[in-house]
Amino acid sequence: MVYQSFLIKYAEIGTKGKNRYLFEDALIHQIKNALKRVDGSFVASKESGRIYVQAISEYDYDEVIEALQRVFGIAWICPMLQIQDKDFENLKKTLVSYVDEVYPDKNFTFKVESRRADKQYPVHSEQMNRDLGEVILKAFPETKVNVHKPDVLLRVEVRKVVNLYSLMIPGPGGMPVGTNGKAMLLLSGGIDSPVAGYMIAKRGVKIDAVYFHAPPYTSERAKQKVVDLAKQVARYSGPIPLHVVNFTDIQLYIYDKCPHEELTILMRRYMMRIAQEIAEKNGGLALITGESIGQVASQTVQSLASTNEVCFMPVFRPLIGFDKQEIVDISQKIGTFETSIQPYEDCCTIFVAKHPVIKPNLERIRKSEEHLEEKIQEMVQTAIETAEMIWCDEG
Ligand code: ATP
Ligand code: MG
Repeated sequence: MVYQSFLIKYAEIGTKGKNRYLFEDALIHQIKNALKRVDGSFVASKESGRIYVQAISEYDYDEVIEALQRVFGIAWICPMLQIQDKDFENLKKTLVSYVDEVYPDKNFTFKVESRRADKQYPVHSEQMNRDLGEVILKAFPETKVNVHKPDVLLRVEVRKVVNLYSLMIPGPGGMPVGTNGKAMLLLSGGIDSPVAGYMIAKRGVKIDAVYFHAPPYTSERAKQKVVDLAKQVARYSGPIPLHVVNFTDIQLYIYDKCPHEELTILMRRYMMRIAQEIAEKNGGLALITGESIGQVASQTVQSLASTNEVCFMPVFRPLIGFDKQEIVDISQKIGTFETSIQPYEDCCTIFVAKHPVIKPNLERIRKSEEHLEEKIQEMVQTAIETAEMIWCDEG
């Protein structure tokens, strides 16, 4: 079956009252973006509270569905026939061939649900339901009508043309990216942070990212892995500007001046400070991390509180209550897992102490930071000024 168009159903954005058009426009924008990558030409538009994607050339069905399934804000994708010749007899014929082609196994129950948006149309909707149902029963005697819980709900909408659809393919849900401000994702090469970025983007937030690397202790390959991950998240969130910060001098300085068991916490406090400054410069309003309570020493509640102390922006930690396996499941679903498990060193693990503190004492952490007073401000500024920006578009 060749569908000329798709009806896009959205869920939550329908509830936004007077701002609804902003959400619809953002959704259309994201749909257009996603379809740019697909062979073929399409028009995405809204018409009386609905969004349609119309194919104006040949296209690959699976590719289109796959692209639309990555657009946040879409609840359902309904492939649709658009019947130009509205004559009722023609409609009957088309419906029968539609059912024949889309449902090879005719052992199903069905219901016809007609809507007559074009009030000039000579057949009333009740009448349409009955007549079209009869035509199907006659053509395919194995089928049965079930008006309460049909296997197949055949929708017929008489508008400028007649829309016919019955398939409903689930979209990813969420809200269109761009409707909820912008946040800075601390993106490492691990499993967690790409998933965290995906989850916040799903709520409509635009994503920028920052990666701290420590050459020569971390390799170009480790950096490339993070770029690859950013590109994979960008398949959902749209392009991500990735700020690569050289963290070597700061790490060495902390290593030199502070107790080694506090190193991870101190490093994480500087990561947050730097991420926050870069976010602020770029219009970001919050930070995002892949932290989850208790996963490692730096993610005990005490450690999180200590890391959080230096943040003036809200920090979104969407994985905070997730078990590792739950996070792995999402990373597999969104396609970042295979990249995340590539064995390239992380800047945090290189300097990590054998026995890091798991209940850092805030007083002591603040005291340790005093040992850094001489140079740290300047080093932070240099790290920010020399950050490299890499534009990561879907790969
Ligand atoms: P992930 O799987 O996301 O790397 P993790 O389990 O390895 O997480 P940590 O290394 O403690 O946990 O990092 C916690 C969070 O801090 C990460 O989820 C990420 O948001 C951020 N982070 C850690 N290292 C870096 C880095 N080198 N650059 C940017 N952000 C980082
Ligand atoms: Mg990590």
